[in-house]
Amino acid sequence: MKMKFGAIFSFLLTILVLSVVTASMIIPVNDRAKENSPAPSKSPVIGENWNLERVDFIHYAKPDSIGKPTKANTCYKLMGVKWKSLPVNYIINPTNQDGLSYDFVVNTISSSAENWDSQTSSELFNNNYVVDYNSQYGVQDYKNSIVFGNYPEGNVIGVTSVWYTRVGKEIVEFDMLLNDNYQWGDATVDSSLMDLENIMTHELGHSVGLADIYTDSCSSVTMYGYSNYGDIEKRSLENPDILGLQSMYGI
Ligand SMILES: [Zn+2]
Repeated sequence: MKMKFGAIFSFLLTILVLSVVTASMIIPVNDRAKENSPAPSKSPVIGENWNLERVDFIHYAKPDSIGKPTKANTCYKLMGVKWKSLPVNYIINPTNQDGLSYDFVVNTISSSAENWDSQTSSELFNNNYVVDYNSQYGVQDYKNSIVFGNYPEGNVIGVTSVWYTRVGKEIVEFDMLLNDNYQWGDATVDSSLMDLENIMTHELGHSVGLADIYTDSCSSVTMYGYSNYGDIEKRSLENPDILGLQSMYGI
């Protein structure tokens, strides 16, 4: 009888040990499943693969009414991700449908980058650009491409996509598309144009980790989320834009 109880006991113990081992083996699988689960639908985040995330900032032309103004303590918003390896190199594809010269496109984009670079002690962009007529928007290749092209939605001025690591929240790439459906140029010369420096300065704010601000009372800041033809207000950074930048990259 004693032996039998002993055998049953050791059998039960074996079952118990096995089930604990099995359970502990299941846990990492569940964790991985959680990592692979899609991002919340309210978020603009589009899951690409399990260790990189992508967020798209889509810029619509300003509608007639954008709702009631709300109070905000600050007129900047951080995305919660930033570059850790600086300076950021970018690639310009100067091909456009508006007859803009190579010099105009390249000089405007690099001075837009310098608008940000000059406001922080970090060397953010440091005029690190190359020109590549083959560079494309939306390809996750660790190349920061700025291109003109067609966007399927008519009232979208531009899109900046930012890829970052889930762990460490480190930006690893941005791509920018300027919608060819708009006529681009220098709005200080012709206010019926979409000002390239205006939009570029705003979009480059996303590329370093600043989010859009939609509060009406913040409409003069560079990171205000709406724009339209003739707008040049975003060319110059306002205090909130600079505060946001410096909170990430230093004074
Ligand atoms: Zn934006």
